[in-house]
Amino acid sequence: MTPHFGAGAVQAIDDAFILGRLLAHPLTSLSRARAALSIYEETRFPFARSVASFSLSTGWMYTFLEPGYYDGTRDGPGDDLDDRGIGACERGGMEEIKEEMFRRWDVVDDSPSAPQLWHEVESKLQALFD
Ligand SMILES: Cc1cc2nc3c(=O)[nH]c(=O)nc-3n(C[C@H](O)[C@H](O)[C@H](O)COP(=O)(O)OP(=O)(O)OC[C@H]3O[C@@H](n4cnc5c(N)ncnc54)[C@H](O)[C@@H]3O)c2cc1C
Repeated sequence: MTPHFGAGAVQAIDDAFILGRLLAHPLTSLSRARAALSIYEETRFPFARSVASFSLSTGWMYTFLEPGYYDGTRDGPGDDLDDRGIGACERGGMEEIKEEMFRRWDVVDDSPSAPQLWHEVESKLQALFD
C-alpha cells in the first residue's frame, strides 16, 4: 500500500477486525482454519486490493505521471492565464484530477463498514459449518 490515498491504515484495521473475529469464532477450529482464511480472503482481498491500486495510481496523478490524466504541461504565454498565472489547460487538468479523487473517495466512503461486512462473513462461516 503506497501512502498517497491515505486509506491503507483503515484497510489494515478492517482486515484485523474481520480476521480476528473469524479466527476467534466458536465455529472456527484448527482443522477449519483454512476455510476461515478463504472466507477472509474472498471477502476482504478484492476491496483492499482496489484501494491499493487507487493509492498507487493516485501517487502517479500527484506527480502528473498517470497516463490519461493531466501531465503537468503549463499553458503557453498569451494563453488565458488567471491572476495566479494558471491557464485553461492546467486548470482543466487539475479539475479532472480533483474530480477523480472525489470519485475514488466516494467508492471508499460507500463501501460497507467492517461491522456490516462481519455479518456477511459470519453468514458464510455458518453456511459452511453450522
Ligand atoms: C509514508 C506513509 C504514509 C501513510 N499515510 C497513511 C495515512 O495518512 N492514512 C492511512 O490510512 N494510511 C497511510 N499509510 C498506509 C498505512 O500506513 C499502511 O497501509 C498500514 O500501516 C499497513 O498496515 P499493516 O498492518 O498491513 O502493515 P505494516 O504497518 O507494514 O505492519 C507490518 C508489521 O510487520 C512487521 N514485520 C514484517 N515482517 C516481519 C517478520 N518476518 N516478523 C515479524 N514482524 C514482521 C513490520 O515490522 C511491521 O511492524 C501510509 C503509509 C506510508 C508508508
